[in-house]
Parts: sequence; structure tokens; C-alpha cells
Amino acid sequence: MTLRFLLGFFAILINSFASAQMTAGDPLASHIDHAVKPGDDFFLYANGRWFKDHPIPASEQSNGLWQLIQDTINAQVRDVCESSALQGNARGSNRQKIGDFFFTGMDSASLNSRGLADLKHDLERIDAVTDLKGLMEMGSYIHAVAASPFFGFGVGQDDRISSKNAVFIFQGGLSLPDRNYYFDTDARAVKVREKFVEHLAKMFEIIDYDKDRAARSAGNLMKLETSIAKSCRKREDTRDPLKNYNKMPFSQLREKTPNIDWQTFMDGSGIHNLDTVIVGQPEFLAALNSTLASTPLDDWKDYLKYHLVRGLSRFLDDKTYLESFNFYSKTLRGVQEPKPRWKRVVEQTDGSLGELIGQVYVAEYLPKGTKEKLLEIGNSIRSVFAERIKGLDWMSEATKQKALKKLASIIMKVGYPDKWKDLSALQIGRSSFVENGRNANRWGFDYMIAKYGRPVDRTEWSMQPQHYDAYYNPSNNEIVVPGCNILVPGYERTLADDALLYSIIGGSTFGHEITHGFDDQGCKYNAEGNLENWWEPSDSAKFFSKTRSVVKQFSGYVAVDTLHINGELTQGENIADIGGIMMGYEAFKRTSQFRDRQLIAGLSPEQRYFLGYALAWMVNERPEATANQVKSNEHSPPKFRVIGPVTDMPEFFEAFGIKEGDPMWRSAADRVKIW
Ligand SMILES: [Zn+2]
Repeated sequence: MTLRFLLGFFAILINSFASAQMTAGDPLASHIDHAVKPGDDFFLYANGRWFKDHPIPASEQSNGLWQLIQDTINAQVRDVCESSALQGNARGSNRQKIGDFFFTGMDSASLNSRGLADLKHDLERIDAVTDLKGLMEMGSYIHAVAASPFFGFGVGQDDRISSKNAVFIFQGGLSLPDRNYYFDTDARAVKVREKFVEHLAKMFEIIDYDKDRAARSAGNLMKLETSIAKSCRKREDTRDPLKNYNKMPFSQLREKTPNIDWQTFMDGSGIHNLDTVIVGQPEFLAALNSTLASTPLDDWKDYLKYHLVRGLSRFLDDKTYLESFNFYSKTLRGVQEPKPRWKRVVEQTDGSLGELIGQVYVAEYLPKGTKEKLLEIGNSIRSVFAERIKGLDWMSEATKQKALKKLASIIMKVGYPDKWKDLSALQIGRSSFVENGRNANRWGFDYMIAKYGRPVDRTEWSMQPQHYDAYYNPSNNEIVVPGCNILVPGYERTLADDALLYSIIGGSTFGHEITHGFDDQGCKYNAEGNLENWWEPSDSAKFFSKTRSVVKQFSGYVAVDTLHINGELTQGENIADIGGIMMGYEAFKRTSQFRDRQLIAGLSPEQRYFLGYALAWMVNERPEATANQVKSNEHSPPKFRVIGPVTDMPEFFEAFGIKEGDPMWRSAADRVKIW
């Protein structure tokens, strides 16, 4: 679970197939590196062969399962885009919008001859700003079409009244991925800051400043963002939803931060009759209020220009796109070269028009039986979890009753939505890519704004069926698992065996997500999705005494160079991983594949389960990407999401004959069991 707004993955395999000839094509057996012992490094044992055969492409920050699945989905979405671009489609139809959007992205001659011409008007409007009111007018416009300057802003479910939509304002407005990037003193961080200032200067030259002015503006922008970053809470300090919930009358917000012209911002955004707002971090806005007055207006105008151009750079000419790529992908994530144009444009079309592409994807590509299988696995995890709650040694009886009620009321949205969003108001044409990009952003923004004052639609999905990811939303008490999560390499048209599906989907998806509804975050939201702590105080004390062992386990891992995993920051996700892998295993034990002791590709059901879990996190990443993740993400890097949780299960050691003295060994006393 991430705090919303804040932070900005074919039961055909039956006995008769379980023969040695399956080994070659089996995604588990064929990935094993037999030069590595499972007791030395299970992650490399399980995935090492694949890593050796598949180096990280220069255009990627990592290579692994996600890329394999994404390649399959990309090829399908590419078909949808290309066929749509060739057809004579009725004006306003889904296919017309998809086709024209894709066409303008592929038309590199036109993109490059236009340069920033389509942003000229926006940049002139910024130049014409003469006061703080003007800044907020442009601020609201840029929020709608390009980026999020000044602060984070959105309309979403009120944490305390989950049936109501509310306006949220929270810390943000930075160009680097996290506030720590502005202050860390390690060599990597110092280099990133140097390169960032160089990047800013180049972007200002692209905007049409001479060299001197560009260099001056870059230095000033770095100074300005550093002062904004200073007032941001550290990421680990934003995990508590109660501390991020500061509801106040709109009038009070205006009084306390008079230099921020909120009325102009809300008018520009289309929010009318605003009575209350929920502020994430009041001290951040107080600091912004001062910085607005104390910083020259010209510096703020540069700030807005940069955020506008950078926010839209993926829709712009090659020069602008590459400058943004060089910093944000190369320097920050170690990616060596941009993806081929078709791939980028397919991803951009999907990113902007995913709702339209999803409808075609479900009709033409999603394997039959997906929805039913996902529901089977989800419900099995639910019943395993119910048994485990009843047996917990740290949760009181009174709390267990509330937990069971909350568990029973979890909404499981799987596969694809029952109804699609209406994008008829969105205009997409063949003249300008950035115009299409701006229009799509604007549509999304207006869709969000229109929720204000309307009851929450609990049937809404925030992810598309072709998006390989999943989420738990505490305000709806729901788990959402898009259809493509059923895909496993080697099983693109049918369903994989249950060991794979129960580890990847049961363990790392449903099992992981479901624990979030009941952990130190989930206890703050009740069965109806309202912010209300339903744990007894004694539960909380006992839970936190257990979490110390997780913090200790993961803080002990060195992720890259001398950089340790931040056990404190990642504990919530690590606890979910450990609970998830255990519940996926319990659910798998109830399947016929497990009970019948089937060997597939020479592997026992237990071995397939744990190897499947390692496949779920088969990611080989560049050191830059690992470093970036450790600093800015509450999830542990992929390798540790495998070698951490497996060692908390005695069944894992038994399955691979791992004994005391082996590097992977963890003694019974050091094993974590929370769920
Ligand atoms: Zn999670």
C-alpha cells in the first residue's frame, strides 16, 4: 500500500505433461543456474541461468520477469496501435483516438521540426506573470496538463469518510525523486546533484536562454528546490496516515498561507464551493508560503517553465526528450540508451489512453478463464488468512473478531472492470503529439476534479487490465488485480501450473496485498474504509515488538556498494512479503497439484512453489537503479524480496536441503512470523 497521492502480474498442465521433456521449456527448470547452490544464494540459483543468457539491454535499467511479460503485452498493444492508425476510423471512436495518438508520436519529422513551438503560448503566459496570483494561475494550469509544481494536489476519498471525495494538498513540487537527493553526502548523491544542475542549464538553453542566463537560472532553480526539499518530511515519516490527515476549513488554509493564492489555484483547477481541505504536511505549506515571498518572481517563473517542459518532454522533439532521458534515465537509473521509438510511443499511448486500449486487450488478448482463476486464488488466500488470524499469538480476541469482519468484507476486483470510463470528451487529432498529450492529461485531471462533491464510485478501477501490477486501497477495503497478472513466461495462451500461480499471484500479489489491510497501516482503516484504529492498544505493542525482528533482518542486507537496505522504511512491505509467501504456500497446499505430489520438469510441488516465488521477483538491475530504489522506495530491491522472506520458512530449507552453516540458513529463533 502506498499513501495515495503521496508517493506519487490455463489449468491445462495435468499429470500427463509432467515428464522430463518439459524441462527445456519449463520457466523454472530452465532458469536454474546449477553452478550456484540454493543454500548459498537462492536468488541466483533460481534465476542465474536466465540472467546469464539475458544481459540488461542498454535501453533498460533492469531485465527480468517484468520485461518478459511487458514484451508480450507491448507486442499486443503495438498491434492495437498500429492497426488503429491504419484504419479509417469514425471520428470520436476509441480506435480513432488510439490510432491518431500513436500516429503523432511516430511522426518524428513533424515532432522535430516543431520543437517547442506548441509550448510557445504556455511559455509566454509564464513570462507575462507579474505577481503571486499569476504564479498560481499558471500553477493550476501546469497541474492540469503537465506536472505538479509547488505542492501535491488531488481529489480522492476522504480517509475518515470513505463515501465522500475530498481535496488533498500535500508536500511535493520537487524535480528529484526524493527530498534526500538534495542533502545526501555520499559520492553518488553529490554526482547526481552536479549532473542535475548541468541538465537544468541545458533545458533552459532548449527553452531559448543564452548560455549565461541558462547557467544562472539552473543555479537558482537548484537553490529554490533545495529550500523546498528542506521542509519536506522524510519518506519514512510519511507512513502514518493520521499524521498526514490535517483537515481544515479552506478559509483557515488561506489565512495561514496568504502568499499562496489558493482561491486562484482552485478556480483555475475547476474546484468550486470548497469548504474544507485535507492537508498532508502543514509545516511544508508554511515554509512554501515564506519561500514564495522571499524568492524573486523570475526564479519562480523559471521553475514553472522547467516543470512544464520536463513534464511534457516525452511528447516533444528528440532534443528535449533526450536531454530529459540523459538525466532522469541515464544518470539516475543507469539506462544507457532510449528505447526504440515504437516502444516509447506504444508505452506513451498506453499511458495516456490505457482505458481505451484495455477494452481491446480484454476482448482480443486476455486468456480465457483469467477472471475465474484469479477469483479462486484470491478466495483461497482469504480463507487461509482467516485461519491464520484465529491462530495469531499477538492479536487479542476482540481485535481478531474485527479483523475477521474486515477480511470477509474485502472487495476483490480481478481481471477487468465491469464498466469503462467515458472518454468521449477527449479530443485527439493528427496534428501535434504534445497537444494530444496535454489533452489526455487534461482529461484525466478534469475527471479527477469532477469527483469533488460527488459520492465515491466504489466500482472504479485505478489500473488497466494490461498493466502488470496490483494494489490494495484501504479506503475501499479492496484488492485490485488486473487480468495480465495471470501471465507467466512460457504460458502466454494457457494457465500455468498451480505452483506458479499460487506463488506469483497467491503469494506475492494477493497474499502480500491482503496483509496490508491488517498491518500497522491497515489497522487504521476499518471494514468500511474509514480512518479509525480498530486495534486494541495491546495489539499494537505486541505487533511492534514483532516488527523489530523484520527491521533487523532487512537492515542487515547490503544492497549495493556499502548501502544497506533501510529496514525501517521497508518494514511494511517486507512484513507483507513474508506474510504473502506463507499464505500463498498454505493455499497451494490445498490444490490437487500439491496433494497428488506431481513432479513437473523434475521439480517437486514445494520446489516449484519457492522457485515460482523467485520467478515473481526475477529482476537483474543496474547498481544505479538499486541505489535509487533503496533511497526512494519503501519496497526492498527484488533480490531481497526473495532471499529475505524464503528464509523465514522452514519448508524452504526442507525443499532444497539447506542446513545450518549454509549462507542462506536462518535459525528458528531468528525467523520472522507475524501473520
Ligand atoms: Zn505492498
